[in-house]
Amino acid sequence: MIIVIDPGHGGQDPGAISNQGLQEKKITLKIAKKLKKLLNSDKFFYGILTRNNDTYVSLKKRKNFLKNYHTNLLISIHADSSKKKYVSGPSIWIISKNRINREINNFIKNKKEKMYFPKKIQYILKYKKSISLKKTALNLQLNNFQEMEISLSNYIFQQFKKITKINKTQPNYASLEILSSINRPSILIETGFITNIKEEKKLKTIQYQNKIAHAIYIGLKNFFQKRCISNFEKKLKKHFN
Ligand SMILES: [Zn+2]
Repeated sequence: MIIVIDPGHGGQDPGAISNQGLQEKKITLKIAKKLKKLLNSDKFFYGILTRNNDTYVSLKKRKNFLKNYHTNLLISIHADSSKKKYVSGPSIWIISKNRINREINNFIKNKKEKMYFPKKIQYILKYKKSISLKKTALNLQLNNFQEMEISLSNYIFQQFKKITKINKTQPNYASLEILSSINRPSILIETGFITNIKEEKKLKTIQYQNKIAHAIYIGLKNFFQKRCISNFEKKLKKHFN
């Protein structure tokens, strides 16, 4: 599984800044690098970073990792902020259906854009003339992605629960540019609020950054293991029926 790890912000874009001056971009890079290490020490995964130092990378370039390479998933890492200082806890975001439908329509209209799709979809996009068929194929894929994103989020929340108090157990939907690629599933993880004094203190420490990265890694591992087993069981059933 090739996982694109996207450390939010960077360079001239610091992201959220806490009262004590802690910048989101620094936390996201540290957690992302740790996650990459964990993934790359596991034969099942290969992690790639959209940035590996404090530089500005446009959202378009970040999304190109999904469009131009054979990848399986994007995980964007962020840290949250709120005017309400008591708000705390991690959250996970996935793309709203409205936004992705708009992206699908744009893609079908603008035929020039190149993107990697699974073979079956590639075939329909290339050789079938019917626009509604193309839309249906992309919509079916979108439903699969959404199921996958929700399930994966649950696995990650299960791990977050072990290391911190969580206020959410389901992902939220949003119209976020980074999640708007129509050819790959993606999730955005807000690792905690840097505007909450207690959580900021934790997020600053290497130990907690390790714990967050580890929680995401175990969540990914559990999710993909379960998925492989159920795919295998399906194949077995087909074979013996
Ligand atoms: Zn952010």
